[in-house]
Order: sequence, then C-alpha cells, then structure tokens
Amino acid sequence: MDTFTPQTLAARFLFPIEGSVIERGTITMHGAKITAIEREATNARARDLGNVAILPGLINAHTHLEFSALTAPLGEPGMPLPEWIERVVRWRRAAGDTATPVSPDHAVQQGLCESLRHGVTGLGEICTTDWQDSAFPASPASCTLFREQIGLSPERSRASLRSADQWLTEFATRCSQQAPGPTAGPRYPGLSPHAPYTVDIPLLESLCSLSRKSDSPVAMHLAESPEEVELLRTGRGALAAMLDRLGARDPASPHTERSPYDYLLRLANTPRLLVIHGNYLNQRELDLLAQHRDHVSIIFCPRTHAFFQHTRYPWESVLARGIPLALGTDSRASNPDLNLLAEMQFLLGQTSSPSPQQVLQLGTRNGARALGQHHEMGALKPGMLANLIVIRLPDRPAKDPHELLFDPESKVIRTYVHGALVHAEEST
Ligand SMILES: [Zn+2]
Repeated sequence: MDTFTPQTLAARFLFPIEGSVIERGTITMHGAKITAIEREATNARARDLGNVAILPGLINAHTHLEFSALTAPLGEPGMPLPEWIERVVRWRRAAGDTATPVSPDHAVQQGLCESLRHGVTGLGEICTTDWQDSAFPASPASCTLFREQIGLSPERSRASLRSADQWLTEFATRCSQQAPGPTAGPRYPGLSPHAPYTVDIPLLESLCSLSRKSDSPVAMHLAESPEEVELLRTGRGALAAMLDRLGARDPASPHTERSPYDYLLRLANTPRLLVIHGNYLNQRELDLLAQHRDHVSIIFCPRTHAFFQHTRYPWESVLARGIPLALGTDSRASNPDLNLLAEMQFLLGQTSSPSPQQVLQLGTRNGARALGQHHEMGALKPGMLANLIVIRLPDRPAKDPHELLFDPESKVIRTYVHGALVHAEEST
C-alpha cells in the first residue's frame, strides 16, 4: 500500500505510552503521520492484525554499530573494563590486518537492518567514521550520529577539535542535500567526547563550546567503571596502567585530581546531554544532573551492565530525582544483539527493576526525549510520525497487557517508519 492512502490497523492492544493501554483499538496512518487513534475497533476499513500489540517504534539511545558483525561479545563476562578495552583494541587491529575484513560501513549497515527487525526506529549512534556519501548507510530509521572524539595530548586534541568542527559543518551540508525517505531516514549530527580517560578537560570544554555554537547534542561515556573513577581521582589503577601500555598518555605528566563531577559541570551546559552508563555516579553528581533534567538524560544499557557485572544500577536514585532515563543496547562487543525488546525483557527479569509501564517508557518516549525528538517520536498520537511496531503476543488471557508484551515469546513482526512498512516477518 502506498503511504498516500490512509491505512488503519486494528490490534488486541494499543500502547500509546502517553495514556493508558487501549484494548481492541485502531490506529490510522496517512502519509508519514498518525492521524487517529480510536477505542473500539469499529472501523470497517481497518486491517485486523489479530493477537498483537501496536506500540511506537523503539528507541535505542546508545549503540556503536561498527561492531554489528560480531557474533558474540568480546572477552568474558565479568572482565574488568580496562581488559575489555584492550581486547577491543586488539580486535580492531586484527580486523585491519585480515585479508577480507568486514568494513565498518558494512557492519553499520548490518546493525541498522538488525535494528529495524527488532523494531528500533530511532538510534543514538556513536560513530568513529563520517558515514561518507559513498556508503551512507541506507535505513529509514532516525539516526543521531555522535561523532566520537578522543585526545589526551595537545596535538591530538587540536586534531580532534578540527575534525569535530568539520563534521558538524559538512554533515549539515550533506543532510540539507538529502531529503529523508524510505531508504534514508533523518540524520542528526552530535558530538561524543569519548570518555574521561581519553578526553581531558580543555578538549571537553572546547567540544562543549562547539556543541553550544552549533546547537548539537553531546553524548559521553561517564562513571562507567570503578577503574575510571579511580583514575580520575588518583591518576593510578588498572585503567591508568592500560593507557600506559597502549602509549595513550604521558606517564610523566602531573596528575590533577578529578571526578565525574568535574566533567558533568562542563557537560551540563550543552544544549542536550546524554550521559552514557553513569553506573558509578554519586549522590552529588546525580543532584547536579537533576538541576539540568530539562535537557539531560542518562542512558542505561542493562545487558552490557550485566556483562561487566557492575554493582547494582542506581535506577531508583535516577528516577526519584526526575532525571530522564533511557535505554541502549551498547554494541555487539558487549551484548549478544541489538534487540531493545530483549533489553527491556532482561531488565524486567532482574530482582529489582522499574515497573513494566516505566520500562516501556524508557525504551520509547524517554529515548526520543534523550535525542530531542520527543515531539515526533516515542508515542502514538495524532500528529506524530507513524513510526510504529507490531508485536505478536502469546495466545492467552492476562490481567495486565504489559505481562503479554514482555513475555519472552512476544516478538516484533512488523516495523513501520514514516507510515511505510519497512520490515515484516514472512508469515504476516
Ligand atoms: Zn558505548
């Protein structure tokens, strides 16, 4: 069906996110937008999809798609982050040496296809390449591309700043020449100062200033591991030793005592901030983020968090302060897939987790909000983009429809972006 004819779908349950679940509801799309949500499936022209749930497309707020060709995470569960980073560095070098390496662009394309299969229609992607014109990956999903920046030495920092500036300028030109369509969804540029152990404060300040000048969002890995906090405080520890082994810092340069707070003070003054992980943020740091909650989000990656066997995630402290929390899969280097529904199911299976209603919001509306796109994505209501997914439910009654939605048997069977069907299981 073309997207110029209104199409109406009926489902056992609609999950509009803003508002309660609708039983036997219909949703109508016209062009790229949702035009109606109705209770009681009385619309004769509705196509009844049967025992399914319809909800907004999921938002994966933190990915590194260049690792999407991996079939299993690198390293072993529970390994300290510094050891894992060395594994990643070795893997990159080995991939560069092989006769037929999977090119990063090809891996990104694989990751985008996998994301659509899992109903992910919006991504916050950390990229280490420029997604060049020749291989601009095709996907209708909305992608915010946070160009990664690294620099501990003055020379590397200067080069990093130049590349960030160039990225924002060239990207804006490229996007203005390319109308979003069924093969290439909207792309938004952002910056990603990588992490406190690869970006010093002067470079961070320059990148934050650039983000203000260009009104671009910023995503930074922060307070991810105890080793990172130790390195900032003392200049020593396993992460310091790892950086020295890689020759990534000058061991003779004097250490200035720091904490994630010093980084947050700068980051909070950007137009939009995504704090990636934040596993070890203390109360003072969370209080600071709460003061900036209108433009700050924290991104929790539950299965990656479990892979590294970090201490219990402080989600209650985050939510109690009203800081928006969203979800990411992180990459296939620390997670078996890019399935955000599986991420939500996993989180709900933990001994302590937010409620199913909250978890659904984290993976939809909060993700859209983290990326600054909550005015058009992350909920089902007239006027919003027709980015939605159909999930086949188990065939049984349930007191709470969320129970069915998050049942391990439930599966994404259709994905619509801008009103167009972009993925369907063969049997549907
Ligand atoms: Zn990451």
